[in-house]
Parts: sequence; structure tokens; C-alpha cells
Amino acid sequence: MSGSVAGPEIERLIQLLARLPGLGPRSARRAALHLIKKREALMAPLTTALQVAIEKIEVCHTCGNIDTQNPCTICTDPRRDPSIIVVVADVADLWALERAHATQGRYHVLGATLSPLDGIGPQDLTIDALVTRAREPQVSEIILALNATVDGQTTAHYITDMLQDADVKVTRLAHGVPVGGELDYLDEGTLSAAMRQRTLF
Ligand code: ZN
Repeated sequence: MSGSVAGPEIERLIQLLARLPGLGPRSARRAALHLIKKREALMAPLTTALQVAIEKIEVCHTCGNIDTQNPCTICTDPRRDPSIIVVVADVADLWALERAHATQGRYHVLGATLSPLDGIGPQDLTIDALVTRAREPQVSEIILALNATVDGQTTAHYITDMLQDADVKVTRLAHGVPVGGELDYLDEGTLSAAMRQRTLF
């Protein structure tokens, strides 16, 4: 990398922006320049929003979601079905399911998936809290909405074992043909999973 093109304050801004996911040094520089040009319209409100976020955002003690209230908006929403807990690895997955209006259940955020290679074991996830929640009398189904990766499926199997003596149905998301997907473009693993998990038409 060549030398600095701006004073240390601007370099610092670029360095911090470059730490955001999806932004390399080049896009960080572009973002910094954009913010500086839009100082009033963008940078000032962004600064305020970040300040409010630092002060107000908390992790929900019940489900692990992040929100400005604790318990979070979803946990306290009376329209949510208390019999269903949807288990996700990360808040990003929760947000994705909410965007899709995929469930009326409540959530449980594990914080990660089990990954022996990265040294992430059961004690690093909120599995104990999930087992406790699953034993609450109103809970009847645990939906494992985990990634269709080796780590995601290892985590699903581990949780299923842990929930064996809880009086709940444990389900997981189907694997198969994506909406709008063409068979010819699918990998063999997806195709054979879709064939195994075929449903009555
Ligand atoms: Zn919550």
C-alpha cells in the first residue's frame, strides 16, 4: 500500500470503514470520501445514529436478538406464537427470516455454529439456555434454521441430541430446489437432498 493521501483523521476514518464486512481499502476510501462530501446530509445523522446505537442497543436476555429494548420486540410481541422457537446461528439469520415473514414463532440466537476447526465448542453457544427454554410448558416445536453447511448440520445434530428428553418436536429447514431454481444448474448434493425430501403434491 502506498503512503497516506490525507491527514491522520481521514486516514483513521478510512481504516475504520475498511474493517466493515464487504468493504476493502478501496471501497472504504470511496465511502469515506462520500461521507465527507455529504457531511451535513449523511455524516452528521450517521454519527448520531451510531451514538444512539452505542447507548441503547442491548442483547436480549431471552433470545439473543439485538434491540433497543430487553426483552426484545419479538420476545414481547403478544402476536408471536410462544409454542415455536426458531433456532438461528446469528442475528443476521434472524433478520433474514423476518424479512421473509417466514415464521410467527420466536427465536433463539446461538451466536455461532459448532466448529471444531475454529475451536468453537458447545460452551461458546447458548445451547444451555435453549434447552431450558425448550422445557417451558408452552413450547412444542423447535425449528433448527441453521446453515446447510457441515458446521450448521453438526450443530443441528448436537442440539437434537441435547433436546432428546425435552417434550418438543424438533424440525429443521428443508434442503432442496430454490424458488425459481432450474434443475440443470443445481449441484448434485442439492438435487439428491431435494429428491430425498420430496413432498406430496
Ligand atoms: Zn428476544
